[in-house]
Amino acid sequence: MVDHVEPGDGREIATRLASRLEEPLGVFAAPGRVNLIGEHTDYNAGLCLPIALPHATYTAVARRADDRITVASAQQDDRFEAALGEVSPGAVDGWAAYVAGVAWALREAGHELPGMDLVVDGRVPLGSGLSSSAALLCSAALAMCAAAGVDPDRRELVTATMRAESEVAGAPTGGLDQTAALLGEAGQALLIDFRDHTTRSVPWRPADAGLELLVVDTRASHAHSDGGYGSRREECETAARRLGVASLREADHDDLGRLDDGVLRRRVRHVVTEVARVSATVDALAGDDWRRVGELFTASHASMRDDFEISCAELDVVVETALGHGALGARMTGGGFGGSAIALVPTDRTEDVAGRVADAFADRGWGAPGLLPAPASPGARRVG
Ligand code: ADP
Ligand code: MG
Repeated sequence: MVDHVEPGDGREIATRLASRLEEPLGVFAAPGRVNLIGEHTDYNAGLCLPIALPHATYTAVARRADDRITVASAQQDDRFEAALGEVSPGAVDGWAAYVAGVAWALREAGHELPGMDLVVDGRVPLGSGLSSSAALLCSAALAMCAAAGVDPDRRELVTATMRAESEVAGAPTGGLDQTAALLGEAGQALLIDFRDHTTRSVPWRPADAGLELLVVDTRASHAHSDGGYGSRREECETAARRLGVASLREADHDDLGRLDDGVLRRRVRHVVTEVARVSATVDALAGDDWRRVGELFTASHASMRDDFEISCAELDVVVETALGHGALGARMTGGGFGGSAIALVPTDRTEDVAGRVADAFADRGWGAPGLLPAPASPGARRVG
């Protein structure tokens, strides 16, 4: 069975959410994202190419007369409340740290915030590698800025939401997710260069070529997913130090021979080849060469599976099944060890591929995967 995960009707979600506040000031949406290619490259000053999903997180806000912040989410049982001045790194636990962290980071950046009531409802699956965390952070950031009557540059909001996630929620982040949520555009992928944090829109309209991007949420999450991200980051830093470069973006193929540690050599090879594959994907898209885009996706998956070692059985099964039934290319996406995979599939084959993936999961006794429609969608915005 294929379990379709729909983005929902944004207007309806916004109206329902606003009705939970007495004097709502507005409702703000920020999307989840799926990275097309360029994995674990952000913290290596590399390149990546995400699109924003139609699935978003919605935050409604009302001002309060006092200096308190309250947050409730339809996805959580507990409600958070504190004085704004009490919120700081180490002071908030759990999911509310993402929202409270944004308030802290905006205040750190010099913005004066009023007391606020915030209510949240999300349509991005949590913990599936589609960045529900950035969707939550960025919708909250827009809501708080509206309550404060300020309109900072989106790049400033990228910095604030990154600080909130790493310093208050305690989850290290390279910036891909927040940048995609805040700067994504309908019909466009976002080429992000983490050397200087510049971005460029790259048209992404597979439907024009008779193709569809399938996003498959394996709903698997392996125990080492937290530690795995940190250890890969450390390995990259160690390798850069040994090579005498500021980041692995400065490394190239010739440097591989200078590393005698086989593990570090494989990690560097992933980063170096992955950055090259992002550039090659942008070139292929410019030439409308979708077959090449597919090949690059599949090569990226092999690199993550064999060199970076962040794939898992569920992700490999999605990729192999999709490739075996007509996908032009497929790869895991996100941090790894579970989460989601993408496949570029001729539109008339999408149902067959989705069904085959679901069957492959059922045959192995795994739960049904989720299937998300994924046209490139708008970034964070006011919706009510
Ligand atoms: P991902 O970003 O890939 O979905 P993360 O582990 O980075 O996975 O973020 C998931 C966490 O973000 C959740 O465990 C929860 O703490 C928080 N979160 C995301 N969306 C919501 C939401 N709608 N309501 C409350 N908390 C949320
Ligand atoms: Mg996240």
